[in-house]
Amino acid sequence: MTNFKDLGLNEALLRAVADMGFETPSEVQEKTIPILLSKETDMVSLAQTGTGKTAAFGFPLIQKINASSRTTQGLILSPTRELCLQITNELKNYSKYVSGLNIVAIYGGASINDQARDIKRGAQIIVATPGRMKDMISRGMIDISKIEYCILDEADEMLNMGFYEDITDILSHSPKDKSTWLFSATMPKEVSNIAKKFMNTPVEITVGTKNTGTKNVTHEYYTVNARDRYQALRRLSDANPDIFSVVFCRTKRDTQKVAENLIEDGYNAAALHGDLSQNQRDLVMKSFRNRQIQMLVATDVAARGIDVDDITHVINYQLPDEIEIYTHRSGRTGRAGKNGVSMTIVSKSEVRKLRSIEKIIQQKFISKEIPNGMGICE
Ligand code: ADP
Ligand code: MG
Repeated sequence: MTNFKDLGLNEALLRAVADMGFETPSEVQEKTIPILLSKETDMVSLAQTGTGKTAAFGFPLIQKINASSRTTQGLILSPTRELCLQITNELKNYSKYVSGLNIVAIYGGASINDQARDIKRGAQIIVATPGRMKDMISRGMIDISKIEYCILDEADEMLNMGFYEDITDILSHSPKDKSTWLFSATMPKEVSNIAKKFMNTPVEITVGTKNTGTKNVTHEYYTVNARDRYQALRRLSDANPDIFSVVFCRTKRDTQKVAENLIEDGYNAAALHGDLSQNQRDLVMKSFRNRQIQMLVATDVAARGIDVDDITHVINYQLPDEIEIYTHRSGRTGRAGKNGVSMTIVSKSEVRKLRSIEKIIQQKFISKEIPNGMGICE
């Protein structure tokens, strides 16, 4: 079995790895890190959520950056503000023994002038959402004409969210001879198109099977009358007192409502959706990470890519409109080799949708009854 030293990481990174308690590299790390460290190349790396992609690009990037120059050398684009902050924090952890390295997060919903000031102080690595990044480049607040590395993280999500044009615009301000590393859980046509357009014979790495769900997640469904959804959610929570979960709703309105009801009924719950201020969203994420919140009720957009350890359950309060999104939802649990349960509350008429999802996740749903469910199961 390989260890991190065999991958070619330097002393500073190895010390940080030890502090973080990572014992062995994950498969995607084992496959990508030595290549990225040993040569300048474009890369497409496909691996499911929770497989450690952040370190797979983060370690080589940090090792290759020249921390004694203040020029911006690396740019990471990621789909949401939450992910942007998460990656920034991770990278700061990885590089805690590298002195002089500044990593700055750039995202919407926060003061653009504050961010411009942070950039001015010299940021070798920028982690950004496409919208705000494009804006700051066009206002002359950020110069990426000297970057050597560009990472497109969660590329499928970014393209799903309609960032194709922003990404194209941003990349047009970067040098042609940089290395581009694309990381994604899935490889839809849009992702292979972007790879063709912006990359030069990339090394391709695939871990596990494409497009499948995480195998250590058990998928359960509970058939109830549509009007009993909320009761069903409560009973599922009551039956799992140690639950630490993300509850997905279809709209911001439902998200807010379900969270309010749960709080009123005495549960440790909070809402996460796009109508909250950035400050509120940060606070919610912080209390969730600290386990002060047991049930994070969220929209798909707000919850994209969130990586919180040890989420025990994902609850689909409502099925997503697009079945592909189910994979992203259930991927919030069962991470880093742990087991997880994805529970879906459905009405009778929705059961057939589960059959299409089964094809995508290549796993079968298990039919279960709501605990103490007299009266609410059909
Ligand atoms: P992905 O981007 O593939 O969804 P992340 O990079 O967010 O996955 O990593 C998922 C979780 O696994 C994080 O909590 C991370 O700290 C942890 N992790 C990553 N690499 C390792 C490793 N080699 N050993 C143990 N835990 C790891
Ligand atoms: Mg990731």
